[in-house]
Amino acid sequence: RDAAEFIALGSGAVQVCTAAMLHGFRIVEDMKDGLARWMDQHGHRSLQAFRGQAVGHTTDWKYLDINYKSVAQIDQQACIGCGRCHIACEDTSHQAIASTLKADGTHAYSVIEDECVGCNLCQITCPVENCIEMVAQDTGKPYLNWTQDPRNPYREAS
Ligand code: SF4
Ligand code: SF4
Repeated sequence: RDAAEFIALGSGAVQVCTAAMLHGFRIVEDMKDGLARWMDQHGHRSLQAFRGQAVGHTTDWKYLDINYKSVAQIDQQACIGCGRCHIACEDTSHQAIASTLKADGTHAYSVIEDECVGCNLCQITCPVENCIEMVAQDTGKPYLNWTQDPRNPYREAS
């Protein structure tokens, strides 16, 4: 998936380090299989067929909506209780995932919505596909980007 995303953004080559260190060079075969399967599903016959296609959908960060908010949501049925999301959020994000000791000695993990900033670190850390979903919130606030933000001393006049 990472390779497909980089190529869609125009990459001519991708590289990997940590996964090969952890799993050995054979992991590259799995990556090639995964990329080939994804290309088949989407009808791409070559890398060139989708290279750069996503570029038109990107924008400068200053035009992103400052009022957009999303919150992580954990599917408790899918969760295997590994705790990776909790550690990631606790140590390097916003301490927004609570850990609760259950009667059987395992832990349950839940998002403290008021603390969540929507960084999606927990989602990319979770080993279970689709276990953590980022859910868009209705803030009732209008679109506002950094060029318009009153906190920006260089904002453009409206
Ligand atoms: S999205 Fe970020 S802040 Fe929110 S729970 Fe996940 S890691 Fe924590
Ligand atoms: S990382 Fe995913 S599977 Fe692990 S505890 Fe968090 S939500 Fe559950």
